[in-house]
This record gives sequence, structure tokens and C-alpha cells, in this order.
Amino acid sequence: MKADDPVNLKNILKIPRFVAGGIKFHAAGKLYTPKPIFSTIRVTHRCDSRCLSCIFWKENKKSDELSPQIIETLYKDKLFSSLEMLTLSGGEATLRDDLADIAEAVLKSCRNIKRITLCTNGFNNRRVIRAVKNLLKVAQSRGNIKLYVSASLDGVGQLHEKIRGVPDAFEKVTKTLADLKKIQQKNDLFLSVNCTVQPLNVPYLKEIFDYGEKNNLPLTFSPICTSEVFTDDEELKNRLQFSPAQFAELQKIISNELMPKLRTFNRAFWQDYLNLISGAKRRVPCLLLNHYLQIDTNGFMRGCDFDSRFIYGHIKDSEPHQIWFSEKSRNMRRTIKKDYCPRCTVNCNVGYSLAREFFYYARYLSSEKFHHLTGKDILR
Ligand code: SF4
Ligand code: SF4
Repeated sequence: MKADDPVNLKNILKIPRFVAGGIKFHAAGKLYTPKPIFSTIRVTHRCDSRCLSCIFWKENKKSDELSPQIIETLYKDKLFSSLEMLTLSGGEATLRDDLADIAEAVLKSCRNIKRITLCTNGFNNRRVIRAVKNLLKVAQSRGNIKLYVSASLDGVGQLHEKIRGVPDAFEKVTKTLADLKKIQQKNDLFLSVNCTVQPLNVPYLKEIFDYGEKNNLPLTFSPICTSEVFTDDEELKNRLQFSPAQFAELQKIISNELMPKLRTFNRAFWQDYLNLISGAKRRVPCLLLNHYLQIDTNGFMRGCDFDSRFIYGHIKDSEPHQIWFSEKSRNMRRTIKKDYCPRCTVNCNVGYSLAREFFYYARYLSSEKFHHLTGKDILR
């Protein structure tokens, strides 16, 4: 049993609590409508990256960004009283000079938040470091909040530059990561990297993983999302799909080289993803359906990013709890569950989902143990 093995005595003793949480998770949307426990604020659509796969940086609009005052009023709504996790994303979130004010505005009303996550491309060193230091001050002032920073890394060296469209992209992000590591030595900060897997970097995934390992940076692989939330260019979308040959190569690299090394939740995701692409239905659970709300900077209240039509409403339409609990929103969640979730390849937050839903994860872990002991499979 490894030190980070989820099947350890401490977790086994928590099983009754996990089971109760799992029952509640699976009853959500069927027996009751929960309040969100997780919310993302897309604080801006502006971005200093030039990613091939995204239209945000082309819009480059500042005018309609939500102010910390509007965000504070919004999160005072009773809908957010159960919120535990807040993510600040963009665009490039650190382009907002008032990022710490935004976090503070949410924390004023949401006293149960335990975790704030910042997603960044890490390109502008001074700006990112300043943002992280300011967010740390906000988190530390509350004492019980941990800051997570996730930086994007899609390739080592020139490959990252090619995918992100920014000169010296790799040098820039690795310098920022090195500086964040120094901050981490003196602060309670979780630092990780996320690699978006797409046709261009499939042959180099092992190299990217090794970079993370060598630099002691937990790494998550996430398949590219070609939702029209990020691009409406059909020709580009087609280019970002894996061809049968690329998928075969991806399957080989993930299964033969990377799977045993991935973090447990990422391994569970990829096992399911490979089955999904081969025609099976998605089985790995997703918390985003019933427990998540995204506030877009233009005021739209969204569900997950899988489809740009998943908009519950606009903050000017009604109060947030009225929008969330409306028949329209309930119907939308039912439609997403029936028509989209079974084919969905979104990886975001699978770790949180597995931690809450219990049953799939327990079965997955048992099957891994069984396979380890006997060499046979029981999951599928
Ligand atoms: S994918 Fe992210 S980093 Fe890249 S341009 Fe879009 S918002 Fe910016
Ligand atoms: S469509 Fe995908 S991201 Fe959205 S709720 Fe379903 S599984 Fe989650």
C-alpha cells in the first residue's frame, strides 16, 4: 500500500460517512435539488495566451466584466450558503488586478468555503506571482482555506509554444512554476499542472509527465474539450479530434506507459475515457450536473462547459436561487444527464466527484486491488 493509496486504514474507518455522502450524491436531481457546493467565476474572457483551441483571446473584451461589488451581492444569495469550493478562471484570471477582491467578496458571504483554486497559464510571471501572493493573504486571513494553483502545460520546450501560440511559452511558465515553488515552501499552497491532451502532444505525453515528476509537480492529463464554448470553428474542431491512428497511439501510451503512474482519480478517468471513445457510455461520475454553478463574466449562470447552450439564466433575470430551482433549470439538468453526460469527455473535477459519490470509486479501487493481487479484472 503506497502512502497516497486511497485504500488505507484511515479511509476505511470513514466508510460509513462516505456511504452516506454517496447516497446523497446519487439522490441529487432525483429526490431533491441540492444547492451548489462548487462554483467557478470566469472572471474575464481576456487572455494573453493564443491557444489554437480557444476563441476567448480573440474577443479581448473588458467592458462587461463583473465587479467585486456585483459578485459580493450575487454570492449573498441563499443559493450559495452550502458553497465549499471556489475556482477563479478565465480567460487568464490574473489579468484582473482585483482578483483578490473578488475572492474576498465571495468569502464574505460563503463561510463554508475551504478551497480556492486559481487556474492560470502562468505566462506573465510578475502578474501571476502577485495574484497568488494576494490570494494567499485572503486565504490566510480566514485560516481554514487552502489555495490551489493549477498551471497549464501542454508540452515541453517548443511544443508548448506551438500549442499556446506565445513566444517562449515553456520558459515563461516554468519560470513562474519555479517561483511558485519558492512561495510554496513557506505557505500552505497546492501547486499542480494540467496538460490538455490533443493530437499535437499525444506522442510527447511521457515527456510531459516526466517533467512534472522531475519537478515534483502533480500532473493531470485532460482530453481537449472542443465545445463551442471555446471555439465555433468547425474546421478547427475537426482538427482537434483524434484520428483513429492518433487515438490508437494515445490508448497505447496511456495504457502501457502512463496509467500506473497517474494519480488515482486521473487513472479512473482515463480508464473510462478510453472505453468511452471506443463506444461505451461514460460511467465516471460528474459533480457538475447537480452541484455546480459557473458565473460567467458577462453575467450568465451556466452549468458545465460541455455545451454553450447550458445556460440557466442571467443574473439580471432573477435572483440566483430562483433561477437555479426553476423548472427550466431542472429540465435542463435532466436533458444534460440523458443526452450529454453519457458521451461527455470532460475531466474537470473528476477528483472531487469521485471523493463524493463513493460507489463507483469504491468499486474502481477494489478492482485495482483485485487486479494487483490476482492479475484479473473484475470491473468490466
Ligand atoms: S484555452 Fe485558456 S489559456 Fe488558452 S486562450 Fe483560452 S482562456 Fe486563454
Ligand atoms: S455533460 Fe459532462 S461535464 Fe456536464 S455534467 Fe455531464 S458529465 Fe459533467
